[in-house]
Amino acid sequence: MSDYKHILVGVDLTVESRDVSRKACALRTAFDAKLSCVHVIEPLSLAYGGDIPMDLSTIQEQIQDTAKTHLADFAATLDVAEDDRHLIFGRPETEIHTLANEIGADLIVVGSHGRHGLALLLGSTANGVLHGAPCDVLAVRVGD
Ligand code: AMP
Repeated sequence: MSDYKHILVGVDLTVESRDVSRKACALRTAFDAKLSCVHVIEPLSLAYGGDIPMDLSTIQEQIQDTAKTHLADFAATLDVAEDDRHLIFGRPETEIHTLANEIGADLIVVGSHGRHGLALLLGSTANGVLHGAPCDVLAVRVGD
């Protein structure tokens, strides 16, 4: 196995992100690699479409401000440089793929709940990231 040079960790900013990030940090040390992190904000309009007849822009701005603060705090604890912290709007799977291509990541690290049954049929971010990924993907088991 060749060394990984640039690891991208996807963080949903839940407490479980810490376990996922801890693994990513261990790999950074093991391979003397660079570590970038990304949090993707799903636009409310994507999640709810035209179902809610109200202006969602204020709520969206609040979500963005909160995410920005949390990502900054989180990335600082991981010792990820400011330029390597990414806050993006869109669908997590798609944006993580696009970013991995853009920054030349050779490993993506995400958490996986090891779901089964209906939840598995509905899919997960880890599954979505795995399919069509431009590089290796490590799914770190969380929350069980
Ligand atoms: P989930 O399938 O939603 O439970 O998420 C599993 C993993 O996907 C998380 O532990 C993160 O690594 C990644 N992930 C989920 N949502 C996001 C997000 N909005 N931005 C970045 N990564 C995410």
